[in-house]
Amino acid sequence: VSRGKQAENTSIHLGSTIIGGGQPAMIAGPCSVESYEQLRSVASLLKKTSVNVLRGGAFKPRTSPYDFQGLGLDGLKLLKEVADEFDLITISEIVDPRHLELAGDYIDVIQIGARNMHNFELLKEAGRLSTPILLKRGLSATLDEFLHAAEYILYGGNKNVMLIERGIRTYERATRNTLDISAVPLLKLETHLSVLVDVTHSTGRKEIMAPCAKAALAAGADGVMVEVHPNPAAALSDSAQQLDFEQFEAFYNEVKRSGLLS
Ligand code: PEP
Ligand code: MN
Repeated sequence: VSRGKQAENTSIHLGSTIIGGGQPAMIAGPCSVESYEQLRSVASLLKKTSVNVLRGGAFKPRTSPYDFQGLGLDGLKLLKEVADEFDLITISEIVDPRHLELAGDYIDVIQIGARNMHNFELLKEAGRLSTPILLKRGLSATLDEFLHAAEYILYGGNKNVMLIERGIRTYERATRNTLDISAVPLLKLETHLSVLVDVTHSTGRKEIMAPCAKAALAAGADGVMVEVHPNPAAALSDSAQQLDFEQFEAFYNEVKRSGLLS
């Protein structure tokens, strides 16, 4: 992953969106895929705001086993159905190495979540694919550990890796996690991989997501990810953190107005 090995940026082509090609991108969608109607309404919102990459979790790594665990394969199928209908690129998390190959039939980008950044067997298996991987920084991972996790995937042969900072655990409780903005320019110095920022899971605070997204882009991020839901109060996961449609449009417009987004 080192810039010493490859000076030019690795860009990932996702339909008309190129991540790491110099034009920062926006990725948005619900925390969890809940239903066809829910996903469809988010997809039409994204189309309206010219966001081309839809995220949505189907296999959810939840703190409690009693919480909604996601729709599993049915969720991936819904993502495919809606993506085909709206011509969108899709991202969803895979947690089990046995699902990696099959996921490629339904989604465009496989997310490896923060909890699995240290799951080396999952990383090795992801390295055997050619599907792009969005690798999240671990809950308490150093940048060196983050880069080594990415190295596992590239070492296996899959060069299509994107990194995403999603906040780390610190003593601070004002935010859900502490967004490490310095990770963006530091990673960009160290690696040719693209670097994105998840403003939802890092801040967990709707009212500061736009300034944090602008800070991420100003620091050189190749894109920003945010969660949006038609009715956050009724969401089956991350109900407190997802933007509703009006909030999403305000968020998008504020970030866009900065001139930092393509
Ligand atoms: C997510 O993006 O759906 C998610 C679970 O995030 P993280 O792995 O960063 O907690
Ligand atoms: Mn979430």
